[in-house]
Amino acid sequence: LTQLFRPLDMLGWVYRTIRQGLIDMAAMFQLMDTEVEVEDTPGAPALVVRRPSLVFDNVVFGYDPDRTILHGLSFEVPAGGQFAIVGPSGAGKSTIARLLFRFYDPWQGRILIDGQEITGVTQESLRAHIGIVPQDSVLFNDTIGYNIGYGRGGASSDDVLAASRDAAILPFIERLPKGFDTEVGERGLKLSGGEKQRVAIARTLVKNPPILLLDEATSALDSRTEQDILRTLKRVSEHRTSLSIAHRLSTIADADRILVLDHGRLAEQGTHGQLLSARGLYAEMWERQQAESTPGVSEPAQ
Ligand code: ADP
Ligand code: MG
Repeated sequence: LTQLFRPLDMLGWVYRTIRQGLIDMAAMFQLMDTEVEVEDTPGAPALVVRRPSLVFDNVVFGYDPDRTILHGLSFEVPAGGQFAIVGPSGAGKSTIARLLFRFYDPWQGRILIDGQEITGVTQESLRAHIGIVPQDSVLFNDTIGYNIGYGRGGASSDDVLAASRDAAILPFIERLPKGFDTEVGERGLKLSGGEKQRVAIARTLVKNPPILLLDEATSALDSRTEQDILRTLKRVSEHRTSLSIAHRLSTIADADRILVLDHGRLAEQGTHGQLLSARGLYAEMWERQQAESTPGVSEPAQ
């Protein structure tokens, strides 16, 4: 039973709760606040981002002392790069995102953004520079306008309008009788998976972060909606540094560089074409997924 209350399990718990539907996000953050184990160094400066590059330098990390998840991982995403991380389920992809957002600190090695080690800056400034679009986004039981404006304290209605337009959710909102004032949630508007993801993208755009982390952002959607959202994400990733985590390889085939993670190690990296020619793990996964997408063959996706 004590297992249930260990801080490391909290995110998993929150995540499962989120998956069950709309929950009160304020309550969720309160919950997370009391469970955060990472602390700012006294007097830590704010992160200053001019060229948003990302560096993992020999990062070793695990959730439990006796089980290493990332085994000395090194890679670099140059400022403005559109990179992808792929790999089998459990390889450590989401762990990379959690470390970047500093939900945890590495056991060894360094993570740098624009040359600054993230453990040396305030968490608030770090998180202000990173926008995350997860697989299942959480919405407040509040208006759609509130849910989008929440991305950044003090966002104006013009900011919300512009972000909604960029996330391609504005036409939908404008068709609602109460527009941005429409209540979302149990007694209000029920949003489809795609609409929810667009709200999450709009919220992220209000924040206007130089770095975007997409963790399976479209994997819960049907393939037509996925294609629509991918186009939107591609557009909003321009002029930012983006790291897109994906299980379905077809969604990231056009990335500048694809990092293939296997058991917490970088197995290979390159463009889609280079990786196919290399005939390694990526090529194998690609073949398998191509076969799976043909009718008659089915395997669980994750
Ligand atoms: P991926 O996103 O590639 O599917 P994750 O990064 O989520 O994989 O997980 C990598 C490994 O770490 C998995 O074996 C997973 O079970 C384990 N793991 C993830 N989160 C936790 C946690 N909070 N506590 C303990 N182990 C975890
Ligand atoms: Mg994951």
